[in-house]
Amino acid sequence: PCALIWFREDLRLTDNPAVTAAVASGLPVTALFLLDEQSAGLRPLGGASRWWLSQSLKALARDCDRISLPFAVRSGSAGTAIPQTVEESGAAQVFWTRRYSEPEASIDAELRRALDRGGAVVQTFGGRLLHEPSAVRSGSGAPFKVYGAFWRAARSGGAPRAPLPAPAGQKIIAGPRLGGDEIDALGLEPRAPDWAGGLREAWTPGESGARDALETFLQDGLSGYSAARDRPDLPGTSRLSPHLRFGEISPVQLWHASEAALAEGLAQARDVEKFRNELGWREFAHHLLAAFPDMARRNASSRFDGFSWRKPDAAELDAWRGGLTGYPIVDAGMRQLWRTGWMHNRVRMIAASFLIKDLLVDWRIGEAWFWDTLVDADPANNAMNWQWVAGSGADAAPFFRIFNPVLQGRKFDPSGDYVRTYVPELSRLPAKWIHAPWEAPSEALDAAGVELGRDYPRPIVDHAAARKRALAALAQISDPT
Ligand code: FAD
Repeated sequence: PCALIWFREDLRLTDNPAVTAAVASGLPVTALFLLDEQSAGLRPLGGASRWWLSQSLKALARDCDRISLPFAVRSGSAGTAIPQTVEESGAAQVFWTRRYSEPEASIDAELRRALDRGGAVVQTFGGRLLHEPSAVRSGSGAPFKVYGAFWRAARSGGAPRAPLPAPAGQKIIAGPRLGGDEIDALGLEPRAPDWAGGLREAWTPGESGARDALETFLQDGLSGYSAARDRPDLPGTSRLSPHLRFGEISPVQLWHASEAALAEGLAQARDVEKFRNELGWREFAHHLLAAFPDMARRNASSRFDGFSWRKPDAAELDAWRGGLTGYPIVDAGMRQLWRTGWMHNRVRMIAASFLIKDLLVDWRIGEAWFWDTLVDADPANNAMNWQWVAGSGADAAPFFRIFNPVLQGRKFDPSGDYVRTYVPELSRLPAKWIHAPWEAPSEALDAAGVELGRDYPRPIVDHAAARKRALAALAQISDPT
């Protein structure tokens, strides 16, 4: 008999309770990742996530090799492929990290029953979150809908457990080496055209890439995080989101690393608190998704079901996706997304607000674009944040708070360096004009070599008029009381 580790969204060896338990079972161990594109109801991964997954699997394969843990990648539907693998490997015990979204959680529950019936013992572990979503409940036993109350309740249980070390190679008894697919043969990476050049330049997927990103953040980013995190022109955030998405690093590790940084004087308490607060938003998003599995499709506030979104105009939508709206901060963000698979949080809010409120397009269309293009596209975080911006979410910004893209740009990218990086055609415009080039006098535009309408578009909508239109649409669904 052997122990089978089924890796899913936990592509790491350190602080992976399922891996630790499998090794501790004393049985020979073998590991599997299953690319499941067949089970009914699963949302297909977006293009950028597929690229990331492919790189992450290669990194995990190398890491497993280093500790002589046999690791195979297969494809198929979980309901068939997992029982087959259990049978073929003679696994007496199966280990995995729990998932909380649907249909994943139901697939796992069903499999567990089937495997139990077949005589294999399934053991499941937390590892993706600091707290099990079902463990944080209000006094009435219901899931929380307000972040502040959720996070207070979550934290009342004290600090999370200590992180677990990666298993040492000498402790592992290698189980059977399963046949599988070459990772390159899974078709996860783009071929023609290969649009992943910018992603390759920006990221190192895998557990050691995650560890390096954390180290850089602890040395250079955590101190001052509470002030710099809103500045897209500064390297003020951790950029750990895709690593967290694929489980290459755990929130437990981040919690304790930030604690250690505080103790060593690398950061101040308010920075550590703010960083944990963001991890708290991630926890809250997963808590909401577990309670409301259709969060990416349905308005949390049903009032918005009657909202009269405009039928998206193809040219406007292309302009938004391609970073050609004529609003430099929106365009810089959308181009950062397209080039690197990531966008700064402040700019995500601005770009999302522009689509929803200035163009009056249903947030689900934006959610789908981010799902396809973000390397950190996450079923919980993406849906919750889109609904947060739209005002339709459980604990959301009110719809009537409409970002002014010019003022946001001036406030959070004061010198215009972020815009200059991603919208090079405006790079010679002085900071004074860079967030509203249409306000620049013609001499300033000439000196910067910019002709509006030729080198860079004029705004596709007038923000003041669009704002009025959005508020009028809101008035139609507002409760008159
Ligand atoms: P840091 O500031 O270093 O934060 C640390 C971690 O906290 C992040 O890696 C992330 O896991 C978590 N976090 C931070 N902010 C949030 C937040 N607002 N909500 C939930 N978790 C948060 N984040 C995703 O991981 N995946 C998504 O698909 C996603 N879609 C978004 C869509 C919109 C419209 C908006 C406004 C935000 C979205 N976010 C998403 C949240 C946030 O923008 C990113 O998590 C953050 O920019 C990642 O960068 P970082 O790792 O440097 O963040």
